[in-house]
Amino acid sequence: MKPHFIVTLVPGDGIGPEIASALVKVFQAASVPITWDPYNSPTDDRSTLKAIVESARKHRLMIKGPLATPIAEGPRSINVTLRSALGLYANVRPCKSFAGVESRWDGVELLIVRENTEGAYTGIEHDRGQGKVEAVKIVTAAASMRIAEYAFRAASHRPRRTLAVAHKANIMKKADGLFLQCCREVARKYPAVSYREILVDNCCLQLVLDPQQFDVLLFQNLYGDIVSDLCAGLIGGLGLAPSANIGAECAMFEAVHGSAPDIAGQGIANPAALILSGVLLLRHVNLHREANRIEQAVRSVIGHREATTGDLGGNGTTTSFTNAVIEAL
Ligand code: NAD
Repeated sequence: MKPHFIVTLVPGDGIGPEIASALVKVFQAASVPITWDPYNSPTDDRSTLKAIVESARKHRLMIKGPLATPIAEGPRSINVTLRSALGLYANVRPCKSFAGVESRWDGVELLIVRENTEGAYTGIEHDRGQGKVEAVKIVTAAASMRIAEYAFRAASHRPRRTLAVAHKANIMKKADGLFLQCCREVARKYPAVSYREILVDNCCLQLVLDPQQFDVLLFQNLYGDIVSDLCAGLIGGLGLAPSANIGAECAMFEAVHGSAPDIAGQGIANPAALILSGVLLLRHVNLHREANRIEQAVRSVIGHREATTGDLGGNGTTTSFTNAVIEAL
């Protein structure tokens, strides 16, 4: 019997509902064996957040649109809360060049692996008064070993078998030092993977100068979040960058980009990053035929100016992009 999956769906804020609707249409047209369990945005409603966590734990699969987070005020980010509630320890962001997209580099093929549960994103901050604030960065050997294992395993399955860990252990000698120690320990178990350590600032420079020197890039939480936007810029922008958040029990898939309030409601958001995040979900549950079909359809549409959105240099809309992907299936 053909497998069937139930997937928790949170369209999210801003452009989220527009791009989530595109994803649902493409999956339906491709006859993907998925039923959606949809939820409103939890941004203003913590009881919805609880229901989403319960649904994701039950179905073990979730697709999420972007969620807006107030800047410098308000409660802890819902994105960060979801990742920690669901134990999504690995944020995995493939970053691969697209034919037909004008960008400075061709042949970029990176896999970004980011520790997703601790580091500088634990949200432990204290106001000490008198204009002084403390923010705590947590690094544990357990989480560092777990993410290093994930990254080395991924590198060992790729043709180039190369992994670079980017760090700042020259300054944060204990916190980033512990992370490095764990990476070195795991590296010894994977002698076939070529291992390199690089300061994260130099890593940014090297990515801009010559991204093809890298294969798998491993980061702690904050560095990975920042550098993956840089990497998206290398292949044509945030509209093309998908991601997976992997845990032991559950996996959540989302675009790297945010809610894009500057273009929300205008029908011009690029749906590709969320559709490609859906492709990562399909591969995660071994629906490789469906995944390849949808990815190829997206890749074949990119470069067609009349169908694609303005961020890719096109003059189309979310709807024209979606319809073109469906026609290309
Ligand atoms: P953003 O990613 O939303 O937008 C950055 C720029 O990229 C904007 O110019 C936007 O128009 C453009 N862009 C992004 N996605 C696009 C798409 N699909 N098609 C075309 N153009 C696109 O980043 P921001 O403006 O810094 O953040 C906006 C909000 O999103 C904030 O509240 C932030 O906290 C939130 N955010 C959420 C997530 C998430 O849910 N995982 C990730 C990042 C940011």
